[in-house]
Amino acid sequence: MRPLNLAALVERVHAELLAQRGRGRVADYIPALATVDPMRFGIAAAGLDGRLHCAGDAHQRFSIQSISKLFALILALQMEGRALWRRVGREPSGTAFNSLVQLEHEAGVPRNPFINAGALVVVDVLCARHAVPQNAVQELLGRLIDSPPPRHDAAVARSEREHAHRNAAMAHLMKSFGNLRCPVDQVLDAYCRQCAIEMSCTELARAALLLAGHGLHPSGGERLLPGSLAKRLNALLLTCGTYDAAGDFAFRVGLPAKSGVGGGIVAVLPGECALCVWSPGLDEAGNSLLGTLALERFTTLSGRSVF
Ligand code: GLU
Repeated sequence: MRPLNLAALVERVHAELLAQRGRGRVADYIPALATVDPMRFGIAAAGLDGRLHCAGDAHQRFSIQSISKLFALILALQMEGRALWRRVGREPSGTAFNSLVQLEHEAGVPRNPFINAGALVVVDVLCARHAVPQNAVQELLGRLIDSPPPRHDAAVARSEREHAHRNAAMAHLMKSFGNLRCPVDQVLDAYCRQCAIEMSCTELARAALLLAGHGLHPSGGERLLPGSLAKRLNALLLTCGTYDAAGDFAFRVGLPAKSGVGGGIVAVLPGECALCVWSPGLDEAGNSLLGTLALERFTTLSGRSVF
């Protein structure tokens, strides 16, 4: 197989799509997110050889939102192991990421850890162990990128918390089914702060190398996760990581990925590299519109995907 020319690919994808900046709709259901400049567009690719390639606003930090769910899940799985799967499923939801309907039907057990209800269960696991659970997520992220832990934006966390009625409804419903152990307010506070962590495309691409490198620390060497767990996490990303559009995303892009309503998407090409794209305008499913197009161009131009 031809080696990937990541530098050229990143440059080309960015140049091809630059004229389309501003497409999509910036998330405004969290008021503090609505103020982000819709013209931002960054791409970063981190190779397993340790080299980093980027274009556009790749160094600008943004609100990682649901991308945090991946790293919180890693911590919860390290704590609970397989027992976690009794409290949260591993199937695509087929409904919106913040839907309540399915949760009622399925007795308070969320379909997967990447929809909001599933992420709340994951945060509940972290709350039981850590006094300040989002600190554990921040510490993991800092460890992965060999930097001080990234910070969260308190104003974004507060803004989400003040408007978290739907997440609160889900949390209370799960509590009523006995699937939440800590107090609902504690879980919601921790969830909102975790979503408000800020990182750049370069930092996220580097952190996601953990999954491209089958569980080794992004700098190589130290094993942080068993290879089998990295495989399973990639499978979950592929089937559940991009909201209710995971099927279409797999069809178009063909990479395990996790998106967030801040407009970021991390994607993993196992054995080769990890990518992160950021453009705040979202499509109807809540995935970055330009970010999805960029990843689609990347796999088309490179001829590489997991398929
Ligand atoms: N904090 C957001 C929420 O709970 C995260 C959503 C997302 O990025 O998918 O609504």
